[in-house]
Amino acid sequence: FYSSEVRKVTLIPGDGIGPEISAAVQKIFAAAKVPIEWEAVDVTPVRGPDGRFGIPQAAIESVNKNKVGLKGPLMTPVGKGHRSLNLALRKEFNLYANVRPCRSLEGYETLYDNVDVVTIRENTEGEYSGIEHEIVDGVVQSIKLITEEASRRVAEFAFTYTKENGRHKVTAVHKANIMRMSDGLFLHCCREAAEKHPDVKFEEKYLDTVCLNMVQDPTQYDVLVMPNLYGDILSDMCAGLVGGLGLTPSGNIGLNGALFESVHGTAPDIAGQDKANPTALLLSGVMMLRYMNLNDYAERIQQACFATIKESKYRTGDLGGSAKCSEFTDEICRKVQSG
Ligand code: NAD
Repeated sequence: FYSSEVRKVTLIPGDGIGPEISAAVQKIFAAAKVPIEWEAVDVTPVRGPDGRFGIPQAAIESVNKNKVGLKGPLMTPVGKGHRSLNLALRKEFNLYANVRPCRSLEGYETLYDNVDVVTIRENTEGEYSGIEHEIVDGVVQSIKLITEEASRRVAEFAFTYTKENGRHKVTAVHKANIMRMSDGLFLHCCREAAEKHPDVKFEEKYLDTVCLNMVQDPTQYDVLVMPNLYGDILSDMCAGLVGGLGLTPSGNIGLNGALFESVHGTAPDIAGQDKANPTALLLSGVMMLRYMNLNDYAERIQQACFATIKESKYRTGDLGGSAKCSEFTDEICRKVQSG
């Protein structure tokens, strides 16, 4: 990618506070003159020819064509027969790795002020394969599926990500002492990837040990790679160490593109009131820019965002301030333009 060339990016504004925080991100990107053009799409499920509800074809085509997308939170309809849209997107685009950087924000006090870890979660299988059945009354079985192919690609991605992002160590998180075959295979694939990348430090740790160490001293970890369920839990725990889900960005890396999204939900309690904090979606956008090799823009926007939070004058309610989403956004725009 060349920074002079304008590239199209799919935007899924989402529900609840989604449109407000998406507009904030668009405004900040425009202020920074980021050379991208947004293509907004609606993913509200539509009934297909087979009578089943699914993601509209136009949205699928947009992501497939642009290969890069930014997504706000989506409401999961309550009730039987509705599959999570997030899950549908993950499946549709083969988003095999979920990446979540967790970094302490200067000036926003939490338990630790020096957290800087990245969790990389296998996103397609493991305990979340959805294969469950009742054997006899009162006995159910759930299959944990681990394949060499999926483990290899996520392990390989973890090492590549580590190098490309100037980091130094990969920790494979597992329970191969108990789940010898499944986690054993995952671990084997991580070891193979480690051999291919001798310039990156590699270690293996049990999940329980990582949890214990992480809350005692998070500085001992850098990039962590793990199967689906462990990643789901550990990534939220790491988010908690830096101030919660409202601040954490994420990226879903696929075989043929990537979708970046905020981790939080639609916040129906504050939707439409100009109170939402757009930081998580903005930092997801920053991750997206890095993925597109637009690092200078990414850096400038990230610095403006961090500086605004540090100053505390324009913090939104979730960070203990009283600023509106639009005021916080405008201050970041000012900083981006003057920086
Ligand atoms: P939520 O994250 O929407 O809200 C939890 C609390 O955090 C609320 O008090 C909310 O006001 C606050 N909050 C969340 N994001 C915020 C932000 N950016 N700025 C300020 N405050 C923020 O979680 P929920 O209430 O459990 O879920 C609401 C809906 O969101 C549900 O339909 C759920 O299915 C959906 N959801 C979607 C995603 C996603 O699309 N990735 C993730 C989680 C939940």
